[in-house]
Amino acid sequence: MIGQNPIFIPGPTNIPDSLRNAMNVQSTDHRAPDFVELFAPVLEDLKGIFKTKTAKTIIFPSSGTGGWEAAIENTLSPGDKVLIARYGMFSHRWIDLCQRFNLDVEIIECEWGTGAPADLFEQRLAKDKAHEIKAVLVTHNETATGVKSDIAGVRKAIDNAEHETLLFVDCVSSLASMDFKMDEWGVDIAISGSQKGFMLTAGLAILAISEKALTLGKSAKSTRTFFDFKDMLNANKNGGFPYTPPLQLIHGLSAALKIINDEGLENVFSRHYRLAQGVREAVSAWGLNLCAKSLDLYSDSISAIYVPTGFNSDELTNHAYDKYNVSFGVGLGEMAGKAFRIGHLGALTDVMVLSGLATIEMAMKDLNYPIELGSGVGAAQEYYRNSSNKVK
Ligand SMILES: *Cc1c(COP(=O)(O)O)cnc(C)c1O
Repeated sequence: MIGQNPIFIPGPTNIPDSLRNAMNVQSTDHRAPDFVELFAPVLEDLKGIFKTKTAKTIIFPSSGTGGWEAAIENTLSPGDKVLIARYGMFSHRWIDLCQRFNLDVEIIECEWGTGAPADLFEQRLAKDKAHEIKAVLVTHNETATGVKSDIAGVRKAIDNAEHETLLFVDCVSSLASMDFKMDEWGVDIAISGSQKGFMLTAGLAILAISEKALTLGKSAKSTRTFFDFKDMLNANKNGGFPYTPPLQLIHGLSAALKIINDEGLENVFSRHYRLAQGVREAVSAWGLNLCAKSLDLYSDSISAIYVPTGFNSDELTNHAYDKYNVSFGVGLGEMAGKAFRIGHLGALTDVMVLSGLATIEMAMKDLNYPIELGSGVGAAQEYYRNSSNKVK
């Protein structure tokens, strides 16, 4: 197998050759001064990606799941109440994690395909006069359904309810591909990972933490060792790490930040919008529907697409892989068998996305879907021909 086909899963994403090369470095001593020179600017540049001036940025050797865990154990105690809505597989997994930490998890069940219910959060918080709810947890981009939630709206809901709760946001599949405004949205902990918008391998949980979260965390009674914010920040102060850092990945992240900033963060967002819009044009030309219920919820990093009734989306993704050696996202949780997903985040171009659309069209045709070959590709081509990436 030549192995040159792009992948269209929503993480890990395609790694540009320049980033693979950047990670191909010999091990060096992380206590030597050149580690500080590599690492300190990485932590600083990450603040720009989170759009924060005041938060502390932290990197743990872990996938995004470890970032969820770090947020919880550094700020909360067993029995603490948290409020979270379930509208997909990732919000569901975060709920499960909180329950295993013996938090008192209050869940608002939402239809999959919808996003964070700011109005219901506001109602619930307004009723919580004693301020028992310690944190509201929101998945910014629900990767299972291709739904982007309105974090500014959630912040407004908290403020309207005059509640002092912390706001934690999972931005694993949105950071560095869709706009994220930590300071403006008053986010207390933002959690991301290296293998999606940052175009690297999995292996880094990337967090930004507000002063408020750090202060409240001092009295948190959950056990923590590996993911202790305090140990990490103390070591980081001198440019170091409390244990052996994943050096090659940090080289990769340093290079990724350069690529992103060279393109320009706003241009990265507009490229993702365009790539996504081309996919959405194709979906509509096929006569299929997105899982996301309305336009304002459409994600620019991932589209989850219902297959017509009577078809099984798992067969489609399996067939695309077996016959054409191209990976698409399977339906997760409630979407299993009902929807497939096209990941369109990270290092992608128009041309790469068109190849994915052409492939899934062939796979659908092979399986007798009621679509016309070229219909989706043609719609995306028209869109890409007539729109441009650059915002400035
Ligand atoms: C990928 C992802 C995660 C983290 O998953 P890991 O496999 O642990 O990196 C968390 N939340 C969302 C929304 C994701 O897309």
